[in-house]
Amino acid sequence: MSAKSRAPIPRPLIVRPGARFQCFGDGLCCTDIHALGPVTISEARDLRARRKLSVVYSDDVEGYVCAPAPNGGCVYLDAKGCTIHRLEGPDKKPGGCQRFPYGLTATPIGGRITTEHRCPCRTLGERPPLMVDDAERSLRDRAGRLETDRIITDRIEMTERMRLPFARYLEIETPLIARLHAGEKAELVLEQKPLPELQSLNWSIVAANHLDGNDGSAGGLALTWFGDGLLELYSGHTPPKRERPWAAAFERAIKRTKKPETPDQIWNDWIADELWMFRWLPWGPFDVGLAELATRLAVARTLQKRLQKLGLRADQAAAEAVMMCELAAEASEWPVAVADFEPEPNAKLSWLVPLLAERERAERKAKRARAEKKKNEQ
Ligand code: SF4
Repeated sequence: MSAKSRAPIPRPLIVRPGARFQCFGDGLCCTDIHALGPVTISEARDLRARRKLSVVYSDDVEGYVCAPAPNGGCVYLDAKGCTIHRLEGPDKKPGGCQRFPYGLTATPIGGRITTEHRCPCRTLGERPPLMVDDAERSLRDRAGRLETDRIITDRIEMTERMRLPFARYLEIETPLIARLHAGEKAELVLEQKPLPELQSLNWSIVAANHLDGNDGSAGGLALTWFGDGLLELYSGHTPPKRERPWAAAFERAIKRTKKPETPDQIWNDWIADELWMFRWLPWGPFDVGLAELATRLAVARTLQKRLQKLGLRADQAAAEAVMMCELAAEASEWPVAVADFEPEPNAKLSWLVPLLAERERAERKAKRARAEKKKNEQ
């Protein structure tokens, strides 16, 4: 639940081909997996009218949020789920609660409906295709307004030295997402290697920064799992035993999951949505974004293996690993590491090779035109 913008929403609203979601009430989103808000002033007033001490101020979101109980769950959460939802109806919940895990990314050709994958309702079990109408209902606030999480302009930075109009970017992104949807191995689609060279940090420091994030909360614990995964991947270090954050929500989810997906299906769905929502865009150009995703994917595979050794079924292990790796991207440590990535020079990315050749042809043509002009002037 992050800062929103009220900029005009481009139409149409579009869902990613292949995206599937239904809220099963697994309950993870009603915990300290994120700040339980922000709630508006009028929502805070209504919540306090129900229960006096049910709203607190959060420095993280710079606003009021639902108060967490000592176990990390919202004070309105009981063993059967949200009491407001159950006793008063879903539309009486604060807007932020109705919205998650949906998000909205405004692009020059429409509003992309996105979904966060830290929610087991999104990653596990049989789920119907995501429908625009359902998502739009959840995305509207109490006043009926739609708010965006990200705004994408018409120029997309592809590498440090190359930008493309959005329409040209789409010619590259669309086949990548289609290949993920068709089941091609995600590493082959991303093409970038995990753990790229860093400019000033090193991977042990990045891992240590995440391990330091353990503040005793479940979120802090998820960050330490991510740090463990980075360190294991980088140096072969064997991590210590740790509790699993929000294990109960995943246990509930796995009980309703009759037809398990493979970890690769879970990775591909997640990576496709990471591309679809443009989470990478503030951190650097597209080639860096792909290296960032390749790194978190490699960490996710490492964590999945560790979780399977603890006896978890493969799909549950993959879903818990995705939750940890998605949360890491929401924390402050990861963007600092990504800003330090050193993109490989002249990377042989299959989408980049023709673009570089095209640029070279254009530069040669311009040079010939300049020479011709000069000759004519003499
Ligand atoms: S108000 Fe209800 S939906 Fe919102 S966080 Fe609390 S329990 Fe969850």
